[in-house]
Amino acid sequence: MIETLDIQITKTTQPRLQETDFDNLPFGKTFSDHMLMVDYADGEWKNFQILPYGDISLSPAISALHYGQAFFEGIKAYKHEDGKVVIFRPDKNAERFNRSAERLCMPTIPEDVFVQSIAALVDIDRGWIPTKANHALYIRPFMFATDPYLGVQASTTYKYMVLTGPVGPYFSKPLRVKIESHYTRAAQGGMGFAKAAGNYASSMMPAKKAVEEGFDQIIWTDGSNHEFIEEMGAANAMFILDGKLVTPSTGDTILKGVTRDTVIKLAQAWGIPVEERKVAVAEIIEGAKNGSLTDAFGAGTAATIAPVGSINYNGEEFTLSDPLTREFSQKVLKTLDDIRYGRTEDTYGWNY
Ligand code: PMP
Repeated sequence: MIETLDIQITKTTQPRLQETDFDNLPFGKTFSDHMLMVDYADGEWKNFQILPYGDISLSPAISALHYGQAFFEGIKAYKHEDGKVVIFRPDKNAERFNRSAERLCMPTIPEDVFVQSIAALVDIDRGWIPTKANHALYIRPFMFATDPYLGVQASTTYKYMVLTGPVGPYFSKPLRVKIESHYTRAAQGGMGFAKAAGNYASSMMPAKKAVEEGFDQIIWTDGSNHEFIEEMGAANAMFILDGKLVTPSTGDTILKGVTRDTVIKLAQAWGIPVEERKVAVAEIIEGAKNGSLTDAFGAGTAATIAPVGSINYNGEEFTLSDPLTREFSQKVLKTLDDIRYGRTEDTYGWNY
């Protein structure tokens, strides 16, 4: 355990908090006053700085831009009624940050350094944490390669940075989703389990096509035969099927979501059977037809619980029950909110 982190702090002389419209917060467009920036060189992390949010100068030859040695994380901080500020399960993101780093041949960072550096940044901009229902401070840690070198090899220098910004609800209505039977998000032996920037680049064209066809999101399927469900957009796919919580098991191709883990732990505590396994498209469609599919949602930090309103498979549309009548996801949402906003005791120890 490190004692305290030595961070050089330069506060902004032009705070923007007062002029920010907290009633209008489209996701990812509003940034708090400060950011964190740390350099990796000569085998160590150095120059920990918190500085005013703003542009930075980089060589156009940095390998992140050419070969995509870059990845990110997503975390949220909440403010309780008494003013206390908590970050939700940042230790899980620290673990995943390092799994992404290893897969992309990038340096890891000690978990406590990761968590403490974020806590220091959130502390400085705690005034930016919204207090309205369903609002939070979104935290975006990321790392990228900075060697100005066009050879295809792992960089020797990197930057680890963190931005934050206030956000409201990500989705405002139940989602119309399409089961994707052509494109693939991730392959066996690939990097789907990492939050690699490139995974999101490859998802954009299929997602845009789906939006043009009138869908909100894609349900990704496996790269071999498109027979099994993998993820939903940039969230984990979760279902209540025959009274059990069913979700694809994580592996090479599926991100180990923190929200997914949280939902599983809640279900287990409530005595609901949990099945982490291969989930066939056919059984979800069958469940939608015969009524045994009583809940379906995407689970992720940005969206929390994004209910699926209808599923389209090869042109056939299956409408699910009204999300407000779904016992499981409603209970998950309420329980999570109570914990994150400090309205109940945090018996799981999820609030940092
Ligand atoms: N899958 C993908 C591909 C994602 O980008 C995310 C968002 N981080 C998730 C799942 C959900 O993960 P988490 O609950 O940790 O946000």
